[in-house]
Amino acid sequence: MKSLTLKLIIITTIIALVSVALMAGLANYTIKNQFDQYLREGSESSLLRPNLHMQLLQHMMGPSEERFLALVNRSMWIAAVIVIVVAGLASLVFADRITSPIKQLTKASRKIAAGEFHYRIPVSTHDEIGELAETFNTMAETLERNEQLNQQLYAGIAHELKTPLTIIQGNLEAVLDGVSEATPEKIAAIHTETLLLNRLINDLRDLTLAEAGQLKLQKKDVRINSVVKKVVELIQPMLSEKGITMNIDIPSGLPQVQADPDRLTQILYNLIGNALRHTSEKGKITLLAEPPVGDNKEIKVSVTDTGEGIPEEDLPYIFNHFYRVDQARTRAKGGSGVGLAIVRYLVEAHGGRVWAESEPGKGSIFSFTLPLS
Ligand code: ADP
Repeated sequence: MKSLTLKLIIITTIIALVSVALMAGLANYTIKNQFDQYLREGSESSLLRPNLHMQLLQHMMGPSEERFLALVNRSMWIAAVIVIVVAGLASLVFADRITSPIKQLTKASRKIAAGEFHYRIPVSTHDEIGELAETFNTMAETLERNEQLNQQLYAGIAHELKTPLTIIQGNLEAVLDGVSEATPEKIAAIHTETLLLNRLINDLRDLTLAEAGQLKLQKKDVRINSVVKKVVELIQPMLSEKGITMNIDIPSGLPQVQADPDRLTQILYNLIGNALRHTSEKGKITLLAEPPVGDNKEIKVSVTDTGEGIPEEDLPYIFNHFYRVDQARTRAKGGSGVGLAIVRYLVEAHGGRVWAESEPGKGSIFSFTLPLS
């Protein structure tokens, strides 16, 4: 028998034993006292002479009265033994009820430690033990989901690295084998793939840091228009190249926000970059910042484009890493596949929310909030 079960049985039996002994002792003492008093009271109120009364008393406390008291005593000790036996049996059941969920929990913990994240404990009660089992199951669920996400992430990374590397390898081998010449176009194509690899690796580094909660934010009071200006400067050559107009609508009295300027630049760069990639020539991108509404202590920023839009069924997944609406097309446009996942982590790390709305064929709106200073 395991020690906790044994301890519980011993403790319950000792408690029952002590209670019964106390009760029996007390009852014995009280009965004796009460009986004596009854006889004495009888003697005081008696009309008989004291001598005669004492004789009568002696007669009353004869063998039959003593037998009566002994019988009462004996039945009390029999009752005590019965109570102790019942308490012992009850403690067995009680100990089993307490320890069996703990045994289940130990078994489940061993399974989880061995990597069997699908293992769950049956929840049969709604008390503290049931609550513990539910919490354990939630933990196992989170571990299972994280494990799946990790596997997807590794598979995604391998897939994303494979495509540019295959292109680079194929082109270089063709040149080495003398099948094709190292023309400037060929070298430019290889260069584009190395740029893509570089971006992917940088994005993955940020993503893993963010997922591990190690992305340190250097928060300070920031004016959103200064960050937007910097991003538009960075992106201007690409806007001009595609003939896309960019409208910026930031109210002059917009309050400052608490943010890391570099990370805020990254959020806006990813969102505007996506809008640029998915909007055809002569399209329009609008950046709108809105002041807090009512008691809301946050501002809302949205990036709207007149691009291809996103189908409704894809919208819930676009913030997951490596989720692409159109695998081949978006890759060809130079996306790393983790841009929006990084945006979501960064916005949430700032205490904000991010979401997307879209109408296929008309365009998309990506909005996020940031807490005020
Ligand atoms: P990528 O680097 O491939 O663009 P993201 O995580 O930034 O990856 O975006 C995920 C997917 O969401 C993209 O592959 C694309 O299909 C879709 N998407 C993102 N932004 C837009 C947009 N503005 N318009 C249309 N589709 C978009």
